[in-house]
Amino acid sequence: MKIAVLPGDGIGPEVTRESLKVLDALSLPQLTLFEGDVGGIAYKRHGHPLPSETLDMARAADAVLFGAVGDPECDSLPRQHRPEQAILGLRSELGLFANLRPAAGFPGLEDLSPLKPELARGIDLLVVRELNGDVYFGEKGERESAGGREGWDAMSYNEAEVERIAHTAFRAARKRRKKLTSVDKANVLETSRVWREVVVQIADQYPDVELDHMYVDNAAMQLVRSPGQFDVILTGNLFGDILSDQASACVGSIGLLASASLGERQTDLGTFGLYEPIHGSAPDIAGQGKANPVAAILSLAMLLRHSLGRETEAGQIERAVANTLTGDIRGADLGGTATTQEIGDAVIGNLKSIA
Ligand code: ATP
Ligand code: MG
Repeated sequence: MKIAVLPGDGIGPEVTRESLKVLDALSLPQLTLFEGDVGGIAYKRHGHPLPSETLDMARAADAVLFGAVGDPECDSLPRQHRPEQAILGLRSELGLFANLRPAAGFPGLEDLSPLKPELARGIDLLVVRELNGDVYFGEKGERESAGGREGWDAMSYNEAEVERIAHTAFRAARKRRKKLTSVDKANVLETSRVWREVVVQIADQYPDVELDHMYVDNAAMQLVRSPGQFDVILTGNLFGDILSDQASACVGSIGLLASASLGERQTDLGTFGLYEPIHGSAPDIAGQGKANPVAAILSLAMLLRHSLGRETEAGQIERAVANTLTGDIRGADLGGTATTQEIGDAVIGNLKSIA
């Protein structure tokens, strides 16, 4: 199996180093790692944030372990040269249409959540966000109108696009608590009407999964009022962008949560995907050993689960992380003093006592 490792910018390389240490500690057989440049570092070395060698390396791999991109020194560059273009390019070039973001409360860290501890403790959900369609990829432009210049963006979803993301979400729900909430705005949007009709059709193939529908405004409210009611949330690109950030904020620290972006291509043991922490390159703390590597380490766990068929090891990493967080090893983001490296070492220590 091949993993393309793209550490990127800022704290990306620092946290990726810790996930690689964890991977090394598992001593999995027949694994080959390739490392490539992406983001600001790639622009500086190769003149492009997503060099073709990096894209080819990702294409040839079974999974991509991604750090973060973003570099303040690149802020004034034209858009196509900015680091952030690299992740957008990877998602579309690799056909990664399904973004999975688990959000679960960590025992002992309820105080990080802006919600009441009893509500925070009950959070255990997965947002499945469509990543290749919606208003982000529709036609857009500017035109003259009676009211002056007018900006416009077309929102659309076709049946095929909704079907494939719906299957991803139903399959995920099947492996969890078998409850799926499809979030749309079907009372106002035609896009959402088709979305809902397709989801209802696909549901016939998953009679064991309980399906309900929620308007996005209500979903936003329910997420903070009673987040424990959600298992899997299925939604489009725009609503998913907002709700997945909201769901992670409900858990607490940005340094703790991972994500997977999956495509259609199957690997020998799972689905091809790109795995990354939900946080960015955090230039404000880069190079100081203050970055929490937990989100990156949990991204590795998702990679092992979804692309390499290593559910056992994925679960072991997740338990090792949970044990580390309930111990007294806390990074700066959790009010402690442990460094990036110390947190990585502690996770490996806990992993060894589990595996
Ligand atoms: P980007 O545009 O790359 O997403 P951003 O500024 O939107 O960057 P982050 O890079 O995620 O967002 O950083 C937001 C804040 O969270 C920063 O103050 C950063 O220091 C902090 N932060 C992000 N990731 C971590 C981490 N792993 N450990 C500790 N603090 C973090
Ligand atoms: Mg950001």
